[in-house]
Amino acid sequence: MPVRIAIGLAVTVVALAVAGRRFYWITRLVRSGQPAPERWENGVLARAEAELTEVAGQRKLLKWTVPGTAHFFTMWGFTILLLTIIEAYGDLFDKTFAIWGIGHTAAVGFLEDFFIVAVLAALVVFAVIRVKNEPARRQRESRFYGSHTDAAWITLAMIAGVMITLLLYRGAQVNTKPDQFPYGWWAFASHVIGSALHPLGSGVNSVLATLFLLLNVAVIMGFLVFVAHSKHLHIFAAPFNVAFSRRPRALGGLNRTPDMDMENVSEDTVFGVGLVEQFTWKQMLDFVTCTECGRCQSACPAWNTGKPLSPKLVVMSLRDNMFASSQRLLHQPRATAGEEPAAAQTVEVETLVPFTIEPDVLWSCTTCGACVEQCPVDIEHVDAIVDMRRYEVLMESRFPTEAGLMLRNIENQGDPWGLGQAKRAEWTDVLDFEVPVVTGTIPDDVEYLYWVGCAGALDERARKGVQATARMLHRAGVTFAILGPRESCTGDPARRLGNEYLYQEQGKLNIATLGEVGAKKIIASCPHCFNTIKNEYPALGGNYEVIHHAQLLEHLVQERRLVPGDGYQGKVTYHDPCYLGRHNRVFEEPRTVINAIPGATNIEMKRCKERGFCCGAGGARMWMEESIGKRVNMERTEEALGTGADVVSTACPYCMIMLDDAVRANAKEDEVRVLDLSQLVEESMLAGTGALRTGSEGAISPGSPEADGE
Ligand code: SF4
Ligand code: SF4
Repeated sequence: MPVRIAIGLAVTVVALAVAGRRFYWITRLVRSGQPAPERWENGVLARAEAELTEVAGQRKLLKWTVPGTAHFFTMWGFTILLLTIIEAYGDLFDKTFAIWGIGHTAAVGFLEDFFIVAVLAALVVFAVIRVKNEPARRQRESRFYGSHTDAAWITLAMIAGVMITLLLYRGAQVNTKPDQFPYGWWAFASHVIGSALHPLGSGVNSVLATLFLLLNVAVIMGFLVFVAHSKHLHIFAAPFNVAFSRRPRALGGLNRTPDMDMENVSEDTVFGVGLVEQFTWKQMLDFVTCTECGRCQSACPAWNTGKPLSPKLVVMSLRDNMFASSQRLLHQPRATAGEEPAAAQTVEVETLVPFTIEPDVLWSCTTCGACVEQCPVDIEHVDAIVDMRRYEVLMESRFPTEAGLMLRNIENQGDPWGLGQAKRAEWTDVLDFEVPVVTGTIPDDVEYLYWVGCAGALDERARKGVQATARMLHRAGVTFAILGPRESCTGDPARRLGNEYLYQEQGKLNIATLGEVGAKKIIASCPHCFNTIKNEYPALGGNYEVIHHAQLLEHLVQERRLVPGDGYQGKVTYHDPCYLGRHNRVFEEPRTVINAIPGATNIEMKRCKERGFCCGAGGARMWMEESIGKRVNMERTEEALGTGADVVSTACPYCMIMLDDAVRANAKEDEVRVLDLSQLVEESMLAGTGALRTGSEGAISPGSPEADGE
């Protein structure tokens, strides 16, 4: 056997054995997770679409223009250059080797050379970005803070090694076997290198061709081993993680709705996740797929305001814990947190919280979903965080004490403040029309049930938004009724805090009530209620057509059943509520409404729509002390104030409360008002034409001359 074949094969066999062993180990670790049968429900089309947009199209990465473009060319470079790897191995055995069906066509030669150059250019971009940001990398503000950045230099060097040896090998080939390198000048870069090597003569070039071929094989194999042992594992893991991701995204409802029926509970039942093996295999796949890019971290409101929570560091810590627990995961019977997993093991198993994830990390999350939105490999942080919260609340009774009051209030009074059901219809007292309170079933001539929500019904500031919404619906001729005292908290705060039991109790209670009254079409004013009823109640058996009032307003404005007037003149900035925007993709409707107000100038904050910044209330944070770092609502409100707007508009009672608090803390309440979208529309109609043209008696119906603007 020729020496070149022997060396090439020896290097390959050793590398494949080392890398294969590692891949096998990781696969076994991932498979040791809990079943996730729903992950097999993604249809072939959904998976193909995911691969096309997220992996092939690099959709999320391309939002970060320069590094995203560089990554796009690197990823595609490696894909296209698989051809050169096949050619290199073929060349080991047969110098005239050509890939069957493709051969040595000019297009192949051009594509290969184009991507060699593109990848080298991308490496230069990566290197410049890294050098430029190197000092900042150690600062908390950097998205790479906490990442293994030294390994990234090794990666850049190895990829450069692959490309350079490939170019030199091809360049030397140009001079030694023109018949076997017949791409012509289509392989432009190889020919440039070939020209440079040409003076060395064909004998030396022949030796160089073999040398660089073997070096190319060696660097590729070295890179494979390195990838298997580093965060660059994502090169292989990401396509699988994306294929099994929740489509279209892991936002909206939570993924798992565990069986909370106490009749099915045994001593061994574990609620939530206390040990890493209680995560599903898909969540474990998430952990090994993380690229440590830090895009989630840079978007996280908790991290941005000085809290210890970084979604990236959470994922990295869980991955480290998973690797460190490999003995237990692979060789021992399943353990229960806090117990010895097997008689032979003497070390008690430490629960994830507080030993791997600090409590302040866990409880800082607002479940805003900014991390999920940004992650280029579709990691599902929010579900993992809530899973760990469930364990803490249901198994250990460990959670911030102040949140306990909220849970007791929901349990005993049906709302987080404990104000009681009797007050739930009081907000209608100021209205100059009657809002029917359903006692039996919803009358046939009433189209919608208006789900007011706890804050809208009980908080003085939030009530104003709900009252304005009711007046706007009434003016437009929308018929609606409310449940009044029969409405109870949807359970969203309890669920996000981790008290799944209380959530499901509330859910069952509300679904029973909705069934009794015959609700089919529901308007929700609170995005949290909207999200829960629309996306989470179906798992408990409640299925309804749910619309948020911002969507309905947009519909009414588009149909000219509501005609905003010129009663409001000024600058508005719209704050996207996380559970309306990111979680449910209602981005454009509120903006359409604002843009329909003649005197309103809409000024966007830098962090808007998909990148909107949380108000700080979600994830039950509304009912927890915020003693670490800067208050999230202050950070957001300062951004809003920075736009120079005189109205901060939103469409969520919790956002209203948080933003209004922060405006007051900035002593700006005389200059800037926080208004619900409905209030803004109503204000525009008060002194303007809208008030004259719409009204409880004279709502403009579609198709009328007024509606057509005549
Ligand atoms: S959901 Fe929001 S607060 Fe929680 S980790 Fe993700 S970005 Fe941070
Ligand atoms: S979780 Fe996703 S966004 Fe965050 S660092 Fe990892 S790959 Fe990047």
